[in-house]
Amino acid sequence: MPAHQEWVENNNQYAATFGEKGALPLAPAKKLAIVTCMDARINVYAELGINEGDSHIIRNAGGCAKDALRSIIISQRLLGTREIAVFHHTDCGMLTFNTPQLRKLVKDSDPSNPALNAVDEIDFLEFNQLEQSVKDDVTYLKENPLVLAETTVTGWVYEVGTGKVRSFLRFSFSFISNFVAWSISNLFFIDPSGGINWDSGYAFLYHQSKLLA
Ligand SMILES: [Zn+2]
Repeated sequence: MPAHQEWVENNNQYAATFGEKGALPLAPAKKLAIVTCMDARINVYAELGINEGDSHIIRNAGGCAKDALRSIIISQRLLGTREIAVFHHTDCGMLTFNTPQLRKLVKDSDPSNPALNAVDEIDFLEFNQLEQSVKDDVTYLKENPLVLAETTVTGWVYEVGTGKVRSFLRFSFSFISNFVAWSISNLFFIDPSGGINWDSGYAFLYHQSKLLA
């Protein structure tokens, strides 16, 4: 049965308990835009504890920042968001192919059709290293002149196998000073078994919730 045949009945139940959500303003309450993958296993609201009205959620294959730029500009300039969180995830399909392969797959599906050569104009923005892809997208946004300079940009990995998220934060003086202050005030000891890994200009924080507490 096609999926759409269930929608009317399902929606009747949803609309019956819609409550006050019809009064939510257009602009996101948390001034936040989340960029994440279209992967069917990801429930952004549930994994982060946010609700309708809180955040823009911009989804595409891979959660690629470059692909999301059009939406990010609208989000920032017209709807007031000032924070971007980039989420990539484990077991992402973007780790499994490259652009030449996909272009060939499309063209080989109907070699007699020259219109399919249009696929040669598309960069599918695949990546082969998950953590690096997050760092690259954070850097892309921080350095992009079309993104507001005051934007807070963070990078994250969502684990589809556990439901957990891990964050990457770019070094900055404010981050380091806040981290040191927090460490001293809490007698924080870095766990050598994997609590924190320092990696080429980024802090990879497994226990971000502690730092934000
Ligand atoms: Zn994905």
